[in-house]
Amino acid sequence: MTTLSEPPAGIGLTPITHFAAASAEAQPGAQLAAIREAAAGFRSWFAATGRPEWVGTFDLQTLPYPTRFGLFRAALSPTPFVTLTHRMQVIRWREPDGRVRTLVFEPTDTELARRTPYFARLQESTPDVFERLFARPLGDVLSHLRSIGIAPEEVDWITFDHLHTQDVRRWIGTGEPAPDISPRAPVPPLLPNAKLLVQRAELESLRALHPLQLPWYQPHAYTDLRRDAIVALDGDVLLGPGVALLATPGHTIGNHTLVLSTDTGIWASSENVIAAECLNPEASRIPGVQRWSRNWGQEVVLNANTIEDTARQYNSCVLEKSIVDRSRVDARFAQFMPSSELTRSPLAPGTSPTFVHRGIFHGALTPRR
Ligand SMILES: [Zn+2]
Repeated sequence: MTTLSEPPAGIGLTPITHFAAASAEAQPGAQLAAIREAAAGFRSWFAATGRPEWVGTFDLQTLPYPTRFGLFRAALSPTPFVTLTHRMQVIRWREPDGRVRTLVFEPTDTELARRTPYFARLQESTPDVFERLFARPLGDVLSHLRSIGIAPEEVDWITFDHLHTQDVRRWIGTGEPAPDISPRAPVPPLLPNAKLLVQRAELESLRALHPLQLPWYQPHAYTDLRRDAIVALDGDVLLGPGVALLATPGHTIGNHTLVLSTDTGIWASSENVIAAECLNPEASRIPGVQRWSRNWGQEVVLNANTIEDTARQYNSCVLEKSIVDRSRVDARFAQFMPSSELTRSPLAPGTSPTFVHRGIFHGALTPRR
């Protein structure tokens, strides 16, 4: 396993302490109350840190996903799969010394992600038609960056809400040859200055995967990564003005959420739920969802493929819901952007989303000095 480097000093990874007491609470009910109590204080503090200069969202691919995982116990539809659209966000901000920083959230290497055991099995067991309709490429990371004039060398940080399906070897490079993609020499980094920001708990999960976790990870991709290109985090950090990562365990133990302060207020993005209405099921028109939420007294519908820590995931969803603003487009829904968002599909009747965000867009892109 790759040895981790510590966060370099003085590069703007400021620890955030608002949710420290909540995180330390072992009892889920007490933790939920502590999260609700801390949310308002975080919101006003975070908004006062400023805003990034620009945020853009780019489609990467659609993918099939089991309905029973994505909508947990709530949806009535007998359709086995829903369609999700997976997207990446690019965030630019200026440091106090004037230096521009670039973060890419969810830069999925879609080609290598297909080797994840879950997708590999699905491709083997499903005919081509299914694959073409459900798993559609919509763009790739480097082309998207090129389209907005950001050179690969300009990317300072990459991060993912968690490492399900991810293989980052081509982005940050390896220290040793990789038999499957570069047998003779180490994999050269396509994003040569980028560092991977990842919770230490997520990396540690990869050392000894549990059967619940195995279908979703590619552990072989993390054994020889360039060690100076990984920054292990222990909890919540402010990266720049109005740009933060908050630890939100549950979906995975080392899950974290991107939080942004923008012209339309505060946004959060992760895969803890797959649709805005899963944080606001009272406004859902997906058959079954609203009634299920009411009957069981549960205010969120989890993305439940691994259920590594279900009550903690519920609490993380409430955290996300409590710190963001309401949508300016439809105030019934929170400004929570699912990193893989439920998408209407003729193949998945009874699961059409009531409302979709399609992305986070903010500010203007100015040339780097
Ligand atoms: Zn996941």
